[in-house]
Amino acid sequence: MSKGFEREARIQFDLPEADLETLAVRAGQMRTPEGEHSDAIFPTSSFVYSSAREAAARFGGEEPGNIYSRFTNPTVRAFEQRIAALEGGERAVATASGMAAILSMAMSLMKCGDHLVCSRSVFGSTVSLFTKYISRAGIETTFVDPKDLDAWRQAIRPETRVLFLETPSNPLAELTDIRAVAEIAHAHGALLVVDNCFLTPALQRPLELGADIVMHSATKYLDGQGRCVGGVLVGREKEMEEVFGFIRTGGACMSPFNAWVFLKGLETLPLRMKAHSEQALSLATWLQAQEGIEKVYYSGLPDHPQHALACQQQRAFGGVLAFEVKGGKDAAWRFIDATQVVSITGNLGDVKSTITHPATTTHGRMLVEERASAGIRDNLIRLSVGLESLQDLQADLARGLAAL
Ligand SMILES: *Cc1c(COP(=O)(O)O)cnc(C)c1O
Repeated sequence: MSKGFEREARIQFDLPEADLETLAVRAGQMRTPEGEHSDAIFPTSSFVYSSAREAAARFGGEEPGNIYSRFTNPTVRAFEQRIAALEGGERAVATASGMAAILSMAMSLMKCGDHLVCSRSVFGSTVSLFTKYISRAGIETTFVDPKDLDAWRQAIRPETRVLFLETPSNPLAELTDIRAVAEIAHAHGALLVVDNCFLTPALQRPLELGADIVMHSATKYLDGQGRCVGGVLVGREKEMEEVFGFIRTGGACMSPFNAWVFLKGLETLPLRMKAHSEQALSLATWLQAQEGIEKVYYSGLPDHPQHALACQQQRAFGGVLAFEVKGGKDAAWRFIDATQVVSITGNLGDVKSTITHPATTTHGRMLVEERASAGIRDNLIRLSVGLESLQDLQADLARGLAAL
């Protein structure tokens, strides 16, 4: 029964020409003989066989099917198929967290002696992972200014295997031209990996722009409601098979419950990203006109130095913005403490708006000079704009301004 069950129960949604909104709701959907309308959850560690012969064939790889949830699980697979469809990739591999996705990418696609070129404006733990841990495997990383195409070119060595970037960057909204960096990578036989957390496939599709692999912290907008930690890599069958081999052996797999939560999140992803972007653009525009604000960082603002590139490679500008208040750290802290609606937390990509002081939290472990060269000033505040009413959010930021 177990073998036929899955094959018959599976409803493959394979309309590659379907729109993003349709794929977000339908792609990867399966149905058991119970006829459930929503995605089923399979909280099981192992799977059974109808006979010893079938078990042997399954383990030997002669027959497809589930063996153990560290390898495959139907709920996790549904999530993988849906995100693969949304990013326009051949295959996705889900991981325990966003960091587990980056670790798995590095361990499965590089070996001792290989070289990595990374944007210097990436998530803090990504920098630590490459410099403290991946380095132990004999893989060296060079960090470059993500906006400077010559810097990318010059950093490449004969042994460079992977280029890694995040666009727009956190928290200063620096953009990288994905198409241009993909061309640089490919001219040297290297792969381009893009962390697409901030915009998601609803607003930016790096594979269409030439990237080889997209990486996500599903913890952020893919869930969208701050409930679960997870990650995923999407790309071609060839590289994803390598990644899958590492995950099923190394064990950094996604739990079926988390996959189920992420499936719920994906259904509303295009709708949420549109709303997050609209609210963020309104607030960025409003903040820019306020007396106590020195500077606003948001790629949707017409005076953002890379606004034209943002319009080219993005569908909209996302939900995260940053701004500098007049004054220093104390002024920034007074602003944050005066707010009542937004949550003071380091997380982002939630329906709840969150406010962060990067210099003393997310970027707090950097040396003072490192922080200065990264442009993270003491008066900088990051806002992840949620889906509360625009009016209430604006009133909340006005409380912060009044406290300056
Ligand atoms: C949060 C985040 C990560 C790490 O993801 P986890 O799920 O927390 O492991 C990586 N990149 C970006 C841009 C992030 O925001």
